[in-house]
Amino acid sequence: MRVSTDKTSGSDGRLFTVVVESYGVGQQRQAERCFTVSFDRLQSLMQSIARNGGRIRVVSSGPQLASEAASATGAAAPPQALSEPSPKLPEPPQAEPAPSNAKPAAPSVSHAEVLVNLYKPKDPFIGTVLDNYSLLADGAIGRVNHITFDLAGGDPQLHYVEGQSIGIIPDGTDANGKPNKLRLYSIASTRHGDDLADHTVSLCVRQLEYEKDGQTIFGVCSTFLCDIQPGAKVKITGPVGKEMLLPDDEEANIIMLATGTGIAPMRAYLRRMFDPSERESNGWHFRGKAWLIMGVPKTANLLYDDDFNRYETEYPDNFRYTKAISREQLNAKGGRMYIQDRVLEHADEIFTLIEDQKTHVYMCGLRGMEPGIDEAMTAAAAAKGINWSELRPQLKKAERWHVETY
Ligand code: NAP
Repeated sequence: MRVSTDKTSGSDGRLFTVVVESYGVGQQRQAERCFTVSFDRLQSLMQSIARNGGRIRVVSSGPQLASEAASATGAAAPPQALSEPSPKLPEPPQAEPAPSNAKPAAPSVSHAEVLVNLYKPKDPFIGTVLDNYSLLADGAIGRVNHITFDLAGGDPQLHYVEGQSIGIIPDGTDANGKPNKLRLYSIASTRHGDDLADHTVSLCVRQLEYEKDGQTIFGVCSTFLCDIQPGAKVKITGPVGKEMLLPDDEEANIIMLATGTGIAPMRAYLRRMFDPSERESNGWHFRGKAWLIMGVPKTANLLYDDDFNRYETEYPDNFRYTKAISREQLNAKGGRMYIQDRVLEHADEIFTLIEDQKTHVYMCGLRGMEPGIDEAMTAAAAAKGINWSELRPQLKKAERWHVETY
């Protein structure tokens, strides 16, 4: 993107021409659009473009023809060269007054600036276990633990943001006598950590368990983590991943679809949005709509359920929590209730939300949920004359469709 800022006029009434591509979604999406706005409105236009999934090709001073503006980047001229009237822009959000005892708001980190691979497998950070407890109620299937590590003292400090993952290298050797390899886990805490001390990270780990040749096999790393005691030292790498980052927009809508421990990044997002101390620390005052659809086998397997119920009570206009409890509830066909069945039940509402440019969808957990979710969205989109298989890649390109499934 080339930015030219000729300041000849020097007043806030200066005009700027902004050429944007991939603006809008579905039938409204256009290859290229051109807006002419005054300097006063330039920033809110940029925010609106970001929310609407557009990519800025060029910004130039003056009410230029779009063809001239585009040619500055060497791009082909748009079919209609004349600039359009500027779009109707929302009023700038009203900032909530900061509580008097609040820490200064942490600066928001743009996605390009999010750090990865501060610590690599050859030279991992050695963290210390602070806490390790079960997240399950009596009668649950298996073991799922919440484990917190102290990251203090690193040089560099191991920082991360919500939606990233870290690697854990379990102690010991594999069947060939070689040191165990790292496994990646989605981070379940916000960048400030559960204790808001800015130097801890938490994971949500299920002990992997499966049958092979008549024997029960337990996962190496997940067992290492579920059994680990406070005080133990652990080799940590990362952080990695930019697929599941939250938008900066406090007015975004966030739809979250999680199975089991796929809840980890969602727990971090929801704490960032609704936990009172976290909100006070992060200075990010979410005002959009968040909707979590969570799939687990039994009620006793629900993870962080008390927190989510509390957020729903405290923020009824901003948070909705829908459960799919596969071994206790039946879907419309009489089978196990999976999250794709819940998506189907609410398909029109979900699709209408997705049509809003401010909406992002996050999916984490079992890959098996994806075909059912696509099917539900295909029908909801078709009812509005929209082809889902064309729209979904556009949402992905606009960084509004985020998937991390195994
Ligand atoms: P879990 O507690 O066993 O719950 C999984 C739920 O999904 C159960 O209700 C299960 O139902 C249901 N399910 C089974 N097949 C499904 C399908 N095809 N579509 C939709 N739902 C289905 O979960 P878990 O053991 O923690 O497993 C979560 C999965 O997420 C693991 O594979 C893990 O590796 C993955 N994961 C990925 C990430 C990531 O990508 N970053 C992070 C964390 C976890 P039934 O068992 O009753 O059939």
